[in-house]
Amino acid sequence: MTEKDYSGTVTGKIGKNAKTTSSLGKQNPENIKKSKKEMPTINESLSVLSKEQISSYKKAGEIAKKVKEYAKTIVKPQIKLAEIAEKIDAKIVELGGEIAFPLNLSVNEIAAHFTPTLRDETIAEGLLKVDLGVQIKGCICDMAFSIDLSEDKKYSNIIKASEEALKNALELVKKNKAQTKINEIGAIIKQTIEKYNLAPIRNLCGHGLAEYEIHSGITIPNYDNGNTKELGEGAFAIEPFATNGAGIVKDGQGSSIYHISKSLGQPRDNLAREVLSWLIENKKSLPFSQRELEKKFGSRVLFALRALKQVGLIEEYSQLIEQAKGIVSQCETSLIIHDNHVEILVEP
Ligand code: MN
Ligand code: MN
Repeated sequence: MTEKDYSGTVTGKIGKNAKTTSSLGKQNPENIKKSKKEMPTINESLSVLSKEQISSYKKAGEIAKKVKEYAKTIVKPQIKLAEIAEKIDAKIVELGGEIAFPLNLSVNEIAAHFTPTLRDETIAEGLLKVDLGVQIKGCICDMAFSIDLSEDKKYSNIIKASEEALKNALELVKKNKAQTKINEIGAIIKQTIEKYNLAPIRNLCGHGLAEYEIHSGITIPNYDNGNTKELGEGAFAIEPFATNGAGIVKDGQGSSIYHISKSLGQPRDNLAREVLSWLIENKKSLPFSQRELEKKFGSRVLFALRALKQVGLIEEYSQLIEQAKGIVSQCETSLIIHDNHVEILVEP
């Protein structure tokens, strides 16, 4: 998944242990809010990530890496996205992971946030972004790669641009670790992509990761947004997008990806209540898809989804479409910073 950033500035609390006074934070629904551990102060030598979390992140990364290799063998032009999604989801589970968010399969000018429904007839073609999430005990590896499915491989440069941008950003983070300045990551991403005569997407960004939280704390921009704060320790996703379009996305149609937006109030419908409590129990604050709910509850779940949406208990993400209908590539990995170490969960 990616984070849409309207402001170009910090939208939430900063990475733990970063030198900052920012304390804004997105609120989870109250009754699914996990108890936060005490935050160690900067002077403590303890890492902000526990040993168990570190090993969960690494395990999520190992699984994600295998899933990426597997995905590259099954994604072919003209195959239905629904078939690809079902196979990749199954692979994550087969390898011992849990699905952190609905697999995003976004074609051409759709930058992100498209997942097929079960009956979706959309086929793989052009430039396909595969954005997948594996979680182990809530520790998420969020990663994405792009595949050129055009006959003449005409999108290879657009793909190379986001890959190289991510590699350069990672080099910077490996060098400066927790002290890496957030705007410098954005600057190097933009610089790299512009060398290809392409544009980064300015209103999509990387983000912090926390237990059962796909977008937590900071945003990591794809250009220099002037945020000179340090990354700090913790878990992060960096995700450059490159395009031959305008470099900005707008909201499109619904994605069939949802998240719980508030926990107050109960829907009147019985099934909607059942679905909601299943979601709170099993998804916590993570996104979910119509596809997985239909498999679990049958097609009657569509009514429940509508009811939950109507009362504002769940919210649907919009597809994110390149404004000038440019072709978009994405390359993403997650990393953890702890004890003066940087560990890239999946090398791009
Ligand atoms: Mn992602
Ligand atoms: Mn992401």
